[in-house]
Amino acid sequence: MIPRAKNFWTSFSSSALDWIYPPKCSLCEIFSPVDPCIQCQGEMHRSESVVTYFGHEDLDYLGSVFRYPGRAGQAVRQLKYCRRTSLAGFMALSIQEAASEVGIDYDLAVPIPIHWFRLVSRGFNQADLLAAKLDHRCLALRRVRATKPQAGLTTSERLKNLADAFEVIVDVKGKSILLIDDVVTSGQTARECAKALRAAGANEVGILAFCGENYD
Ligand SMILES: [Zn+2]
Repeated sequence: MIPRAKNFWTSFSSSALDWIYPPKCSLCEIFSPVDPCIQCQGEMHRSESVVTYFGHEDLDYLGSVFRYPGRAGQAVRQLKYCRRTSLAGFMALSIQEAASEVGIDYDLAVPIPIHWFRLVSRGFNQADLLAAKLDHRCLALRRVRATKPQAGLTTSERLKNLADAFEVIVDVKGKSILLIDDVVTSGQTARECAKALRAAGANEVGILAFCGENYD
């Protein structure tokens, strides 16, 4: 098929699908050409301070664009557990805009990996769905062993749970790395990733997630 005909056919099929299944907001279910709809986007609460910087640690900074309660947390749950992947574009764009607003410069956008077992059962890594829409996406990390969910563990249990869970699989020497995830809470997972990346020669490592709270 010649490219023009293919474009026509692709856009015809997409319009036909829109007619049969009009696009809906994944959060409030009203008809909307964008996902989430403009109203739901407006109901998300921005984080008071987008980024917190640390000195002399493996993790240089930690940040999130929105606060978890409300629409932003709903977007995370809809993406992760209900496979509403049409939300990924808005979520990734929010991260990209916040990164340039606060002046984060990076060579590689690296998604926090999930273990292959979880990847198989869920079918995708939500962090990678977001990173794939950013410039310089790089799958630099591999989760080498499954870990328990961090929620409900004490600080020392969390550290033990995550120790040596990540392996660096590409050359990151001298690179500034922006870790990407849908949610950041205590930042322990990001710290373990940063530790592995620093040991492999990364120059700077930080995380910017779509939403989060309870930094420590
Ligand atoms: Zn909506």
